[in-house]
Amino acid sequence: MRTIFWFFSFLSFAVVADNSLHNQKIDELLITDAMVVVGVGTPPEGPYDIHIKDGIIKQMGNSRVDSDLRKSVEQHLNADGGYVLPGLINMHAHTMYQRAGIDMAQPYQHYLWLACGITSIRDLGSDLDETLKQREQSAKHEIIAPRMFVYPGIWGNHLEADLEKTITSYHKKKVDGLKFGMMDKQTFTAASKLAKKYGLKVANHVGVEDMNAWDNIKAGTTTIEHWYGVPDAALKGVQNFPPDMNYSNELHRFRYAGRLWREADLDKLDMVLQGMVDASVAWNPTLVIYEASRDLQRAISSPWFNDYLHPGLEKFFQPSADSHGSFFWGWTTTDEVFWKNNYQIWFKALRDFAEKGGIITTGEDAGYIYQVFGFGLLRELQLQQEAGFHPLEVIKHATVNSAKVLGQGEKLGQVRIGYTADLIVVNGNPIADLSVLWPRNIQPLTGDESTGGIIWTIKDGIPYHAPTMLKAVREMVKTSRADNPINYLVTE
Ligand SMILES: [Zn+2]
Repeated sequence: MRTIFWFFSFLSFAVVADNSLHNQKIDELLITDAMVVVGVGTPPEGPYDIHIKDGIIKQMGNSRVDSDLRKSVEQHLNADGGYVLPGLINMHAHTMYQRAGIDMAQPYQHYLWLACGITSIRDLGSDLDETLKQREQSAKHEIIAPRMFVYPGIWGNHLEADLEKTITSYHKKKVDGLKFGMMDKQTFTAASKLAKKYGLKVANHVGVEDMNAWDNIKAGTTTIEHWYGVPDAALKGVQNFPPDMNYSNELHRFRYAGRLWREADLDKLDMVLQGMVDASVAWNPTLVIYEASRDLQRAISSPWFNDYLHPGLEKFFQPSADSHGSFFWGWTTTDEVFWKNNYQIWFKALRDFAEKGGIITTGEDAGYIYQVFGFGLLRELQLQQEAGFHPLEVIKHATVNSAKVLGQGEKLGQVRIGYTADLIVVNGNPIADLSVLWPRNIQPLTGDESTGGIIWTIKDGIPYHAPTMLKAVREMVKTSRADNPINYLVTE
């Protein structure tokens, strides 16, 4: 018995350690012995062999029935009974090339995203020309990176003529959509009209401001980012702010955001959620980016900081009014308690929205508030489970729903014949435990190198070996730390 157990452990380890297919641009690949999660919410099935040809899933079926494929296809990738899922989609990404003045050159982010199973990102604001260039390079497989959908940001209030100039120039650059943030009603309405004229999708960060979710419903916004505008649209009057409230002070802003959901009128909220569903306004809640507000201790002691926290992020995360989201200089237990409560009402609103037929997607917004690229999205999945969704639904949010909102629902987001081969191969069962998606050396409880982890992330049929990319990231972080010792969250 012991011999057999050792034999299987050894097999599993061998599959994990073999990185010979990493970044191999092969025309044909057979993934063998895979338990398949299609992505649409149906239960896992298999074990199957998945035949990939020219980046497309050509066949999928019982390995015994299709055993001739095992002979005709030369390259095999043995999933070894592990789970194969559609590649995850990060609907709220910011590509960053430096942070807090410290160079953070790629592929730091690209490797982390891929290693955490992310095959597509929706970039909601970054250095536009550079990111468009990388979108091209990624599509041609000249760099190792997720596929990119680029939505440049337009923030604040503008005259209609200026918006026209900006949006026309973005359209000429062939962007995939637009991100709007913190606009007054007039700016938002004019900008939304222009987006429609050019057929551009809109992601809207709707803060506590002049406009709210009702304006998104009227304009047919593609996604509401985060959440503020939803309860804001369900208030009786305005939020009960204290007299010394100053929205420009981020400590105030995030403190009183934690007291917003409880002021929403539940009947009104129901109408807002129904309005969003009727107008096909999807919701990208980014639960993860607020988690430090309800549990600062957890956020500042994340186990992946040691190996993967870039010093640029570490510096940016230090409490400072100059860094957006680094507002914790006066955070109190009372703030955390309000936020814990805030989350419960938010969770219920998300469930109600989904039950009405609303589309929920997944995004991380990492690079802010103690969130590290890739790890943020994996935590988002766990938080969506905490909100009351079955892991199969959570995976649907991260794959099928997100692909649909990107306008890619016919090509991406499913393990299905005819779909693009964007897949992840997991050394474990994420339906039983979403934490098996964490990189192998992070697995908090088992500490066992032979279990857990995404082993392969496949984009366009090209396999990328997650442990190999993570090792490279650890080296990048080490080198950058030698030049930039910060010693705020990590001490060597
Ligand atoms: Zn953002």
